[in-house]
Amino acid sequence: MAFNIHLQSRPLRDKLSITIALTGFVVLVLAAAGMATYQCFASLKHMEDLLRSNATLIAGELVSATDQQEEDEIHTALRSPLDNENLLWTSFRSSDGETTYAYASGRHEPEIPGLELEEKMSLRDGMAILHFRVIKNGRYYGTLSLASNLNPLWHSMLTGLGATMLVVSVCMIVALRLSCRLLEFILVPVRQLAETAGRITRSNNFSLRAIKQTDDELGRLTESFNHMLEHIEKRESDLKVTQSELETKVEQLNKEQDQLRQAQDRERRLQQRLVIAQRLESQNLRHAKEQAESSSSAKSEFLASMSHEIRTPMNGIMGFASLLRETKLDEEQAELADIIHSSANNLLTLLNDLLDFSKIESGKIDLDYAPCDLDGLLVEVESIFRHEILRKSIKFSVHCSSRTPKTIVTDAGRLRQILFNLAGNAIKFTDEGSVEVHIDAMAVGKEQPLAEYSLSIEVRDTGIGIAESDLKRIFNSFTQVDASTTKRYGGAGLGLAITRRLTEMLGGEVGVKSDPGKGSTFFVNIPVRGAKIGAGGDLLESIPTAPNGTPLRVLVAEDSHVSQKLCEALLKKRGHFAQIVGTGEELLRQFEPRKFDVVVADVHMPNIDGFTAIAKIRKRESEVEDPEYLPVYVIVVTADAIGSNRESALRAGADEYLNKPMVKEEFLALIRKAQERVDRPAEHNKGPTENG
Ligand code: ADP
Repeated sequence: MAFNIHLQSRPLRDKLSITIALTGFVVLVLAAAGMATYQCFASLKHMEDLLRSNATLIAGELVSATDQQEEDEIHTALRSPLDNENLLWTSFRSSDGETTYAYASGRHEPEIPGLELEEKMSLRDGMAILHFRVIKNGRYYGTLSLASNLNPLWHSMLTGLGATMLVVSVCMIVALRLSCRLLEFILVPVRQLAETAGRITRSNNFSLRAIKQTDDELGRLTESFNHMLEHIEKRESDLKVTQSELETKVEQLNKEQDQLRQAQDRERRLQQRLVIAQRLESQNLRHAKEQAESSSSAKSEFLASMSHEIRTPMNGIMGFASLLRETKLDEEQAELADIIHSSANNLLTLLNDLLDFSKIESGKIDLDYAPCDLDGLLVEVESIFRHEILRKSIKFSVHCSSRTPKTIVTDAGRLRQILFNLAGNAIKFTDEGSVEVHIDAMAVGKEQPLAEYSLSIEVRDTGIGIAESDLKRIFNSFTQVDASTTKRYGGAGLGLAITRRLTEMLGGEVGVKSDPGKGSTFFVNIPVRGAKIGAGGDLLESIPTAPNGTPLRVLVAEDSHVSQKLCEALLKKRGHFAQIVGTGEELLRQFEPRKFDVVVADVHMPNIDGFTAIAKIRKRESEVEDPEYLPVYVIVVTADAIGSNRESALRAGADEYLNKPMVKEEFLALIRKAQERVDRPAEHNKGPTENG
């Protein structure tokens, strides 16, 4: 392994030389071994031939001596060859087997041969011994043995080996020298190839080429190397082109980046300016908004206080007019009272329209969904307009389909307003003929006690009608068909605008069809929930309507003298006891648990307002330890048309909430509710803080 590693790090020349030398050496050693072997055999043969020629000479002499029976001659023949320095001994056994002769030189012990010995030479005891059968003309004379030392053999062998070694050595030297010469044929192109590769590596010049010197594998290697160089050169030039293109692109990109950076800088500066401008703008806007808000809240405050100021006297006018109409009057007085009542009513309608519109516009209107008696509502509409219908002698009829539920859940106040506006317009713009109100409800939801309905209201009249071109704009605010209409029929052009907004708030739609001169049909569709017919769901039935029952002890807190008188008159007329106070402080002073059944409190009172007073009353009641104690029934009254006073009132602890001007029926309905509670306390005694 070590030799292998050592050889791998040697130059190619050394590797080839060592390979050739080793190969030559092995070949020559094998050849020398072969030749030495041959030499041995040849030497042995030579030895045998030498002995055999000696034996042949001696045998000739022995034959003639035996034939002549010359004993001495036999001795001489056997003794004289011993002078030959190589023969060590001779012996002879005659054919009769009895007579033997043996002669030796020095101390050697001759060996007497047997009779029938095979003719052969053998090497033994450092001697070559030959047994020779003496035969002439077919007569067997005996067996001759002679021994020689091995000197001739060694001589012949050493001479042969020496010659072989000499030849091998000469061959090795010649082969090595020759291989060194011949190696140059291989090494020169390889070296040249390596040099070229080295030069290319050093100079990075791929245009250099190696020179092809032979047509063999090395030549092909040089060609392939040159081909490879061509490829590399081409790729190099391609790379250079690509690199220069890339550099151009990078340069371009850098330029673009610079431009982009400049543009970004410009944009940043612009954005900064924009932000400053926006800030200024938003400051201006905030300022404008604050101004608008302050002017809007001023408007709201103005409307609230105006409503309070106008509604309170209106409350008096309307209340007393209706009280006046209930007294005994002569015909003229009754007519005058009617005029006062209807004028106040008109004024109130206008005021309500203006306030409603203002509330809708400012988004301050809240819907109050509750069960509502549809029949009662329709009767109310008819009763409101009865006077006008009789005056104009037109036919007024209400048709309610059998599938329409009696009780529906909706904002009854808004639905009433829609009905009043449409029926009011129809009656107003119809001088002869009829006005019909058609109510229908189509179930759209599942069959359940409170199903969903699409309530459709159609108000048909045979009045003046509306021109096609005016149909769209009549739903806009302050819009009337023409000035002459205003003059003749009055109105502010708000009714339909309010109707449309309210319908939309209830999730419905309003429309109109009209034939000028023949009449108009206004229709409204709104989604409502209603008790199924026969489901026993007339929820309004639970509201007491009977005027008789336990007389109530009512504490009225009202700063307006007119309202004080009105409440007192209404309550006393129905047989109730009324104590009137003018301030919140007075209210708290007078109130004691169990002393009163009902408290009617105005919200706006000097020093302590209605809400604070009610909260204090409720607190006092919470301290009562009697579990049977029935908390006082609190009705809050206000002339505020703006703001969600109902919620504030309920939060303060009120049971009911009433808007001014007090509609007599509404007020008395609440009083009846309180009466019902007093009559059946077990159902209502749920503690004084029920609403708080
Ligand atoms: P106004 O208070 O003036 O009646 P409305 O908004 O209720 O305001 O109606 C707007 C206009 O639409 C009316 O002035 C009238 O010209 C027309 N109008 C409304 N209802 C009818 C109707 N039933 N028949 C004919 N014209 C109508």
